Amino acid sequence: MRLVLLGPPGAGKGTQAKQLAEKLDLPHVSTGDLLRENVSQDTNLGREAKNFMNRGLLVPDDIVARMLRQRFNHPDVRRGFILDGYPRNLKQAEGLDAILREQDSLLELVVYLDSSDPVIIQRITGRLVCSNCGLSFHRTNMPPKSEGLCDKCGSRLYQRTDDTEETARKRLEVYKKEACALIEYYQEKGILKCLTADAEAAPVLNNILELVKEYDDSHKK
Ligand code: AMP
Repeated sequence: MRLVLLGPPGAGKGTQAKQLAEKLDLPHVSTGDLLRENVSQDTNLGREAKNFMNRGLLVPDDIVARMLRQRFNHPDVRRGFILDGYPRNLKQAEGLDAILREQDSLLELVVYLDSSDPVIIQRITGRLVCSNCGLSFHRTNMPPKSEGLCDKCGSRLYQRTDDTEETARKRLEVYKKEACALIEYYQEKGILKCLTADAEAAPVLNNILELVKEYDDSHKK
């Protein structure tokens, strides 16, 4: 399955993508995670990206495209992937198609997770992320069993520097400018499915798995 999760920041793409990847035994590719890795390792790419990320702006397309192309050169994605955080605009969507075409493959499913603005802001500003495995928690919606520590690996949880209310509102504004064009692009290709993602994570995951099953069943015939 080659699947993209689309939707506003805070819709739960990262959380869902991680769980989906585990359930379907596929690699999870997140451009946000790849960028944060570069920032924390202080690579050239990370130094270029950091300023944009801290202001809630998109990192320039050519930087992200280079990084994604490198990731897609790894053979693990040939079996399929769960991609989140990319594409963010039409140019990136066309870039992704080009990368896949070079590998004689095609995107199969795009799941759009929709969420309302108040839910998004509440989720983003309460989000805590594991410094080791990247698992996400929430101060009130999904608190860890031990305060400040990851349930899965026990490492320290932190708040992302771009998860302040001000930056979250900026990210939402940036997202909305590009969202319609992206939605239309995938609608025209006939691979877009929309889900409401205001609910808790578990029922949303079940709904996505149902869409994957429908896709698989209709392509087996
Ligand atoms: P995310 O983890 O997806 O919320 O992304 C965090 C930040 O990384 C975004 O606010 C952007 O600054 C940057 N970023 C992630 N993915 C992309 C992308 N596809 N294009 C440009 N910037 C991105």
